[in-house]
Amino acid sequence: MTPQLSDILASLRVVSLPLVTRFRGVDHREAALIEGPEGWAEFSPFLEYGDEEAATWLSAAVDFAWQPQPEARRTAIPVNATMPAVAADRVPDVLARYDGCRTVKVKVAEPGQSLDEDVARVRAVRAAMGPEGRIRVDANGGWNVDEAEHAAHALSEFDLEYLEQPCATVDELAELRERLHRWDLPIAADESVRKAQDPIAVARAGAADLIVVKAQPLGGVRRALEIVAEAGLPAVVSSALDTSIGLSQGAALAAALPELDFDCGLGTASLLAADVVRDPLLPRGGVIPVGRLTPDPALLDQHAASPERRQWWLERIERCYAVLAGRGEPEVPASTR
Ligand SMILES: [Mg+2]
Repeated sequence: MTPQLSDILASLRVVSLPLVTRFRGVDHREAALIEGPEGWAEFSPFLEYGDEEAATWLSAAVDFAWQPQPEARRTAIPVNATMPAVAADRVPDVLARYDGCRTVKVKVAEPGQSLDEDVARVRAVRAAMGPEGRIRVDANGGWNVDEAEHAAHALSEFDLEYLEQPCATVDELAELRERLHRWDLPIAADESVRKAQDPIAVARAGAADLIVVKAQPLGGVRRALEIVAEAGLPAVVSSALDTSIGLSQGAALAAALPELDFDCGLGTASLLAADVVRDPLLPRGGVIPVGRLTPDPALLDQHAASPERRQWWLERIERCYAVLAGRGEPEVPASTR
């Protein structure tokens, strides 16, 4: 069933949630929430994304709210802590927000920061986690191949689980993977999957050891499952600073994956200072539960975006819906651009 635009907009709520710490250059997270016959879903492409890209996120939201989801194979998802590019002395404070997480993803290669700051941050995480902790770093494509190789060496003493998107392009990832192969440091592709014309290209090129998949940018749980199957690589499910509603979409994807060998980036409710559900999906004992969530009306009111911002999101949804209609089927886009 394909909803009309008016069906989607009828339930629209737009919120602006304060963040615990600045992330991706913002201190509030705006998100649109919609309700369909199956429940609530989130539409929250970052503000700077164009309509072509954002339309695929809308497809994911519509699919989640209007369609039954693939069968869950598990009821709880192990999640990682996420360490923003903070100063090393703030590391213990951030980790304290994640209950029982054995894995930490550390942001590195932040514009304006140095490798020394990255090393200090990772060192502080290793000190806090002890030898049993698992540490992965995410450069968001911020290094060239030489910088990435240099950083990998500088970080080698911390026994990394993998390097996430060290370089921007598939060719660079492939070259780096070749160079690092000797000492067995896996490379994960994130942006090369979710922002690529062809999400499978990175796997075909042999440029990654595993892929990061996200329910919203890939067009929904079903489409993300197809991409994982086509890629034939281990997958880590992650999120994009979602509210707990968006995290429930990620949890549905993680729950449906045939194999789940890595802790998932679905613990990011801890980065929000407020949420839309009474019992946010904060990690407890290192896991979050699987299942649909319903926003609390009082919280939706309390954190409602301004009328101007609501109108901005409403018009964005109208434009994205038109993009999806142009692709054929609103709930299943022809491709994941
Ligand atoms: Mg990433």
